[in-house]
Amino acid sequence: MRLVRRRLPANGVDHELIWLVVSVTAGAMGLLAFGFGFGLNWPRCPFLAITGFPCLTCGATRATIAFLHGNFSLAWWWNPLAFVALCGVAIFDLYAVAVLLSRSARIRIVDWTSVEKNFVRIAVVSMLAVNWIYLLSHRERF
Ligand SMILES: [Zn+2]
Repeated sequence: MRLVRRRLPANGVDHELIWLVVSVTAGAMGLLAFGFGFGLNWPRCPFLAITGFPCLTCGATRATIAFLHGNFSLAWWWNPLAFVALCGVAIFDLYAVAVLLSRSARIRIVDWTSVEKNFVRIAVVSMLAVNWIYLLSHRERF
């Protein structure tokens, strides 16, 4: 696995632009739907309603609200993995704005070995499992 910096080819997919637009649009839609009181109720978790146990994403909405208010410890408290994901999106969005405005080379990860791919897969599944154990151990919050 290597990190390389490449210019975007003329016919290349502009991942930075696409994912920046997706994340900003999703955030704006969330704000419009739930933040400004357009009569929509806060989403209720069907898994929690049926089983009484929090799902993998329970607390993510409240973590996002806390994150957007700058209360990072509360965001972590509600859902640590959502907090990590929000940090990743924020870092990516800052990077995307910087490379789009400066028209500079893009960072790409290339030449993944199968061992590295498997390591990442196991790490992701482990993070999901640890996060769910955390949520289950604090289920009285939900
Ligand atoms: Zn849930």
